[in-house]
Amino acid sequence: MRKGKRGCASFIQAQCSSSSDSSQVNLLLDKLLNPLKPIDDWDTIDWIKWLIAGGRTPSEFQVIVRRYDTATTCGLVWTANFVAYRCRTCGISPCMSLCSDCFQRGDHSGHDFNMFRSQAGGACDCGDSSVMKESGFCERHRPKPHIKKKVPPRSLLCIAEIAMPRLYLRLLQHLRQHSDLANGDDPLVPVAQADLMASLLHEYSSLGAAMRQVMTSTICNPQIYEELTEIPSEDDSDERLTFIKQTDQLYKKMLKNFPGPSAPEEYRDFPALSDKIYHRTFLEEFVFWTAKYEFPQKIVCWLLNMLPDPKYKSVARTSEGNDGFRAAYEISKIIAKARKPHNIGERVILPAVSAIISSVMKQNAIEITNSIPLSNSSVPRRIDEMVEDVEKQLIAHLQVKQFALQLDESTLRDNEALLLAYVRFNNEGPKEEMLFGRSLTTDTKGETIFNEVATYFKENNIPLKNIIACATDGAPSMTGRCKGFIAH
Ligand SMILES: [Zn+2]
Ligand SMILES: [Zn+2]
Ligand SMILES: [Zn+2]
Repeated sequence: MRKGKRGCASFIQAQCSSSSDSSQVNLLLDKLLNPLKPIDDWDTIDWIKWLIAGGRTPSEFQVIVRRYDTATTCGLVWTANFVAYRCRTCGISPCMSLCSDCFQRGDHSGHDFNMFRSQAGGACDCGDSSVMKESGFCERHRPKPHIKKKVPPRSLLCIAEIAMPRLYLRLLQHLRQHSDLANGDDPLVPVAQADLMASLLHEYSSLGAAMRQVMTSTICNPQIYEELTEIPSEDDSDERLTFIKQTDQLYKKMLKNFPGPSAPEEYRDFPALSDKIYHRTFLEEFVFWTAKYEFPQKIVCWLLNMLPDPKYKSVARTSEGNDGFRAAYEISKIIAKARKPHNIGERVILPAVSAIISSVMKQNAIEITNSIPLSNSSVPRRIDEMVEDVEKQLIAHLQVKQFALQLDESTLRDNEALLLAYVRFNNEGPKEEMLFGRSLTTDTKGETIFNEVATYFKENNIPLKNIIACATDGAPSMTGRCKGFIAH
């Protein structure tokens, strides 16, 4: 490793693309991803980034890979608190949502839209004509029938192809190693330790269709999974071999002890929901661990981000009658009912995806990629539907009870601000919930903001007299607005 990261990566890349010799990459990866080293080592992650970039800087590499993004849908998946948009003019379904990138690259002038802070997570619908009108697609996801699909040169992604399954393996080893949680152990601790690795995988999954293809083809490949998770023969170092044997035993123990999910009777024959669990791919084992670790957001998001394969948009569109899809919806409803609203995003997404995958696993590998895209746009949207129910419950409460109102205004860009309204009230103890968010221009007058808030209350039949206090984020102009509000 004396050559420095860039030099070393460019040397390996040359070797890798001219022959099918992957021994050098693997040797380096053995060093970097040694499971006896801590997983949260910044320098290791940095090495991986340079290595996969193959002689370019990691950011140059990202720009180039994105050029081969032939996706016709966006499919970006987000977690709670992400700012997204909803355009009623463009939406065919009222639940459509857009990421801010797609919103800004599309033409929504004069449209009836709002910006909101996602409470449970969701996904971008840009490019999906079953959910929104094509005129609202951004320039990147507009249909381009005349442009030929660009295929990336082999040399660009050849290191990624070798390194990706090794990264999966390192993350799996970590999840296996810490899985024997004693009562009271926080499952989030090992998850936090793996944050750098999960972030890296999430980052790669956001680079568009070309990289996604590399990732999905390896994560769904039974042969790669079998080869890499096999107990190595004696020639490995003793310490390492002991580690692999121990973590393998832990994994088998966890498999045995995993509580069978109480899926509805008619879905019990899905492999991932059945009593006897077995895994054939990295994906299946990851789904298992995410359930075991209580759905860590970053890993969940990474798995979801990787799943959409827009080539099969037509399949997704006709999938309403698909069994796996119905199962996912049913199961996610059951879980949503059982959990607190703010946990819905983390808790629901994965079981839903797992149900889809398991129903898909009954079919062959090509069909897997065929049916998985529906998890992207459909499942998160259903979660936002459930969130709307939560909002309805909240409104019903505010119609009859007193509450305190808090208004926060934050500037997003030059002439755009976000107004967030929170309410505090007492319901078997003090509660705070976000009521709504609205996009404003920064030169908006206090009166307009007041009207915005008043209209919301009027539309939802919440009497203004129920407001017992009003607070702001402290900006003087806002305080004025608040006083004006109370005066009403
Ligand atoms: Zn988008
Ligand atoms: Zn878009
Ligand atoms: Zn629009």
